[in-house]
Amino acid sequence: MTKDIVVGDELPDWVGAKEFYQKYDPKEVIGRGVSSVVRRCVHRHTGQELAVKIIEITAEKMTAQQLEEVKSSTLKEIHLLNMVKGHPSIITLIDSYESTTFIFLVFDLMRRGELFDYLTEKVTLSEKETRSIMRALLEAVQYLHSLNIVHRDLKPENILLDDHGHIKLSDFGFSVQLEPGKNLRELCGTPGYLAPEILKCSMDEMHPGYGKEVDLWACGVILFTLLAGSPPFWHRKQMLMLRLIMEGRYQFSSPEWDDRSDTVKDLISRLLVVDSAARLTAEQALAHPFFRQYQKEDVRLFSPRKTFRVLIVSVLACIRMYSRYRRVRPLTREVLARDPYSIRGVRKLIDGCAFRIYGHWVKKGEQQNRAALFQNTAKIMLLGLEDFET
Ligand code: ADP
Ligand code: MG
Repeated sequence: MTKDIVVGDELPDWVGAKEFYQKYDPKEVIGRGVSSVVRRCVHRHTGQELAVKIIEITAEKMTAQQLEEVKSSTLKEIHLLNMVKGHPSIITLIDSYESTTFIFLVFDLMRRGELFDYLTEKVTLSEKETRSIMRALLEAVQYLHSLNIVHRDLKPENILLDDHGHIKLSDFGFSVQLEPGKNLRELCGTPGYLAPEILKCSMDEMHPGYGKEVDLWACGVILFTLLAGSPPFWHRKQMLMLRLIMEGRYQFSSPEWDDRSDTVKDLISRLLVVDSAARLTAEQALAHPFFRQYQKEDVRLFSPRKTFRVLIVSVLACIRMYSRYRRVRPLTREVLARDPYSIRGVRKLIDGCAFRIYGHWVKKGEQQNRAALFQNTAKIMLLGLEDFET
């Protein structure tokens, strides 16, 4: 057992979870969910570091019905995780075990934790970084939707970052595969990210239900939040917040949004559409001009290749600067008198003076008259005199 275990985090006993313990060595807690604890763990043979989500299913703490519910929803989660395994922006389920009191889900370890914590640390993200994250997220959503899977709990807490800052979508606890022609009705998800139709459906029995579009609404909320550092729909009183969501009332208020492009605002406004039929699909969102810019931009926040390139360019620049420094000719009165414009420093000085007179660069070769430098008074001084006269 590790030192940092807090009350309620006791590891399952050996007898109940023998199979898991034989293969993995559980370490410190790295995350918590509603009914789960996530720990770093090490594969005993290979030494590979992984993450294990431990879900408790003990009869002492739950009613028989709750127990059945947790069990069946976890088995459903495992089934869906196996279906989506292999997508570059979706977490990989490596192993799973079920004992009488616990279920263990072993995943690849996302060392840099939640996008939520990354955003808290950075406050807001640049449009460039947001574009990389949202492109990967929407590609994951597009893939899920192609399999008729609705995630239903998209939020920065469920988007994890690996060593390179590449995102992976996780937590398929609320995910469901749609049956053809059928809609969903359950009220589930996280309040701030709930689409209006989920709320309306729970209040109106006649409502036709909701579908995949709820994930695109949540993507709109995430996109807004990454750029503004705060969510689009928020009120101290949750009822009022839900009303804002149902009416689709949000603002691009100053000063957070002043410097943001119209393109990204346009994308947000096409995702946060109350009418789910008019909302962009994942495919349409990926085709939006916001993503057409910088097509080849690296989706990772940290790229070893890019870093290496920067390093090489920096070294070459240093070599160039050093050899230039070695080649510098001594500045003598003779050289200065013969051709002052050939000396870089003097040339800069002359051009600088010319700029002060004409307000623009005097380019070499373009009817340049250096004598003009001495025939005029500097523009700024003239302006100063005018001011003085009036
Ligand atoms: P829940 O369904 O109970 O919300 P999650 O699957 O979201 O559980 O996991 C809870 C938290 O544990 C996550 O928000 C994250 O901080 C952490 N976590 C989950 N999976 C991993 C992983 N593979 N690598 C690192 N941290 C993880
Ligand atoms: Mg979660």
